[in-house]
Amino acid sequence: MKIVGLTGGIGSGKTTVAGFFRELGVPVYIADDAGKRLLNTSSEIKKKVIALFGSEAYTGDSPNRKFIAAQVFNDKMKLEKLNSIIHPAVEIDFQNWLTEEKGEYVIYEAAILFETGSYKKCDFNILVTAPQNLRIERLQKRDNSSTEEIRQRMNNQWSDEKKRKLANFIIKNVELGQTRLQVKHIHEEILKAGKNC
Ligand code: ATP
Repeated sequence: MKIVGLTGGIGSGKTTVAGFFRELGVPVYIADDAGKRLLNTSSEIKKKVIALFGSEAYTGDSPNRKFIAAQVFNDKMKLEKLNSIIHPAVEIDFQNWLTEEKGEYVIYEAAILFETGSYKKCDFNILVTAPQNLRIERLQKRDNSSTEEIRQRMNNQWSDEKKRKLANFIIKNVELGQTRLQVKHIHEEILKAGKNC
């Protein structure tokens, strides 16, 4: 079964696009959701996160998300360290999930796909883009976050320019109807490519 990576900057519309693939019957794995779940359930991760941030990182078995977010907010090194704890566990979880799925291909959605090198394990990679002002507007509406907070999070990710070079498909997510059409087109291309293998 083929693996198709799906990524994009914050607020670009990755999860919205993943939903459109799901509507076409494609199984979707959301790495960020898995990471959050594993932070709650994996004792191995808990041990490593406490070693990195101190005992305040957990209250009992529950991660102290606000504390952890504050630790990594302005600290790229710590964010990378946190990712390097969670990423391998997500990788194992994804491989387990994959064994249960059927179809021509699955979507692996991750906020950081090119940054971690995970894209190399995918047969194709899709980048979702949208103008920065639109992304900020969407996130302010969805999360009530400040422009400053959003810009800071954007600075922790690679630029679209850098990601474009590694993507097989690029979706411009501005108008939802157009986005849905682009998804349908890419879906057909992937199925066609499958037949040629
Ligand atoms: P994050 O990186 O923060 O998880 P994301 O890239 O997964 O974000 P979504 O959650 O899909 O992005 O979209 C962000 C917000 O913008 C959501 O509230 C979503 O409903 C809205 N949105 C996404 N695409 C569009 C669009 N084309 N038109 C209008 N609103 C949109």
